[in-house]
Amino acid sequence: MKLKFLGTGTSQGVPVIGCTCEVCTSQNPKDSRFRASAMVTTNENRKILIDCGPDFRQQMLINKESHVDITLLTHEHNDHVIGLDDMRPLIFKSGENMPIYCLSRVGNEVKNRFPYAFADVRYPGAPAFDLHEIDKESFTVLDTEITPVEVIHYKISVLGYKFKNLAYITDANFISDSEKEKLHGLDVLILNCIRKFDPHPAHFVLPDVIKLFEELKPKKLFLTHISHHFGLHNIEDKELPPGIHLAYDGLEINF
Ligand SMILES: [Zn+2]
Ligand SMILES: [Zn+2]
Ligand SMILES: [Zn+2]
Repeated sequence: MKLKFLGTGTSQGVPVIGCTCEVCTSQNPKDSRFRASAMVTTNENRKILIDCGPDFRQQMLINKESHVDITLLTHEHNDHVIGLDDMRPLIFKSGENMPIYCLSRVGNEVKNRFPYAFADVRYPGAPAFDLHEIDKESFTVLDTEITPVEVIHYKISVLGYKFKNLAYITDANFISDSEKEKLHGLDVLILNCIRKFDPHPAHFVLPDVIKLFEELKPKKLFLTHISHHFGLHNIEDKELPPGIHLAYDGLEINF
């Protein structure tokens, strides 16, 4: 299987509009970060999208992706769901509703954010979604077993997703011991890390991630949901402990 990072930035994206810091003005493409999202390609070449934020359209075009079989949502914050309207070309082409897997609370928020997609009589150009309620139990869809991992993000629960020996977790600042059991000894662990030092009420920062790396012992750990405060990619990536790397938009991992 394969996971491609479509976006590795925090909610405002990088560059931040109007910011003149060295990261936001960097010419290195690795310092440009779309809002966090990933595309998993299964063994049978099925496409699983994780999150659909405001950059979804550009992410699909730039990565020459033209199809999504199912969408998994981590939570309802706008930087993870507000691109769903842009799934219309995919829905029109396939002639089928887009299956969306998420917590029931998140599904209700999708209905609030896109009521016209669920109207009894829909406008002909409206998107159409099939909501599938999941919790933290494993489920099988397409050709793939998916294990949700419940994490805490300030005061709400968020789902990370594990496929085989890789787990993708974003927007967390706490993981319970029972959910950590799903994460020991992975080949690849992906964690959100908004910045290096100052603690954040809703996101891990680098010392939290290093502690989890030592505790969970993945072979490799990649950071995502990164803000411009983290610093320049090429400098900061080299200074991370061995085994920990900054992800960047377009990075592909085989697993
Ligand atoms: Zn986010
Ligand atoms: Zn900046
Ligand atoms: Zn969030």
